[in-house]
Amino acid sequence: MNRPTAEIIAIGSELLTPTKTDTNSLWLTERLNEVGIEVKLKTVVGDDPERLEEAVRDALKRADVIITTGGLGPTEDDVTRKIVARSVGLELEFRQDLEDGIRARFKSFGREMPEINRRQAYIVKGAEALANSNGTAPGMLVSTDGRLLVVLPGPPRELKPMFSDHVIPVLAASGSGVVFRKRVLKVSGLGESAIDEAIAPIYKTFQDITTGILFNKSEVEVHLTAQASTGDAADARNDELVKLVVAKLGDAVFSTEGEEMESVVGRLLRERGETLAVAESCTGGLIGSRITEVAGSSEYFLEGVVTYANSAKVRMLGVDEGLIAKHGAVSQEVAEAMAAGMLSSSGADYAVSVTGIAGPGGGSEEKPVGTVFVGYADIESVRSTRLQLPGDRYLIRWRASQAALDILRRQILRRSR
Ligand code: AMP
Ligand code: MG
Repeated sequence: MNRPTAEIIAIGSELLTPTKTDTNSLWLTERLNEVGIEVKLKTVVGDDPERLEEAVRDALKRADVIITTGGLGPTEDDVTRKIVARSVGLELEFRQDLEDGIRARFKSFGREMPEINRRQAYIVKGAEALANSNGTAPGMLVSTDGRLLVVLPGPPRELKPMFSDHVIPVLAASGSGVVFRKRVLKVSGLGESAIDEAIAPIYKTFQDITTGILFNKSEVEVHLTAQASTGDAADARNDELVKLVVAKLGDAVFSTEGEEMESVVGRLLRERGETLAVAESCTGGLIGSRITEVAGSSEYFLEGVVTYANSAKVRMLGVDEGLIAKHGAVSQEVAEAMAAGMLSSSGADYAVSVTGIAGPGGGSEEKPVGTVFVGYADIESVRSTRLQLPGDRYLIRWRASQAALDILRRQILRRSR
């Protein structure tokens, strides 16, 4: 059986400007994929009656499910109700029960319903009204000519519960019976082709899982999409493949649930009841910032310093001035001294440090732009890794922070074996 198809029409002139991005369609696409419906096309259209009518009529010619978002507000520029009705050749109909609901919602906030909100009590004749638990505008479900037209409000916090609670059950019941489930593995320290070479023989034996490999800034992501007759069965198939891939790639896989590196490191530290401090130069606080983006990081993150100048490395971390003079601030020796100094002054279980040349200037033949040393210290050992990172200043700094977190992650795993 062919998979049912969907099209999404995001409505709102603000979505055509650089200030506002259409995120609803991304979220909707993921939900639709989960119930086996393939999104074939999406459109962003301004608050323009003619263009909107064209877009809806065109979509109705092609797709089984057409979803519009936005334009259900009470003001004059919110034209979706009127245009959707016109596109399917039906009238709008006033529904007293909907007005009562909107009035009651205002009342619950101690306010009178402004008269213009009465507009939101009109829906396409014969349509099913979809309750809005976070706003006033009801959505609509219109069956027309074997197609399903779903009309949703624009604000994500209104659209999401409405779609999950009232639309997904309808789609799942009338769908192809195929359910899709996605998993994202994240892999560090190996390139796309090396990974593909290693795991292609494994994933090719899973006919029911689509595998995609893509590089993302500083890591490779392996996307698995399993299809089965139930969500649990699809999850179980993904689990099977994940297990085999992890067995093949080992510690290079840092997450099998699409987590960020800083979350993974945080979890490892929390599980072990251990603590971390960081000393940064060229990353300028990026590592500390990423670690503290994770809620609950105060449990394991003690402190971070940005020692940019040589004098700061000496004063804050106790790095020997002579060491800097002899080897340069960007060197294995200084990276190690930074980590060791941080470890002893903070009393943390682990310290990591970064010193490098982010560019565009400052490189030399011996240490070109992208040369980065990551230092590591724990109570037993101090070590460092020299990296040659590609990219512009932004990418070099990002990749240096990722490498430092990854080195820490691997050391934590090694130590607890
Ligand atoms: P509307 O239903 O058109 O009045 O939209 C109300 C608000 O919802 C807009 O101001 C946007 O902030 C938000 N919104 C509308 N459409 C989208 C969309 N496609 N993606 C994300 N936010 C949206
Ligand atoms: Mg709008």
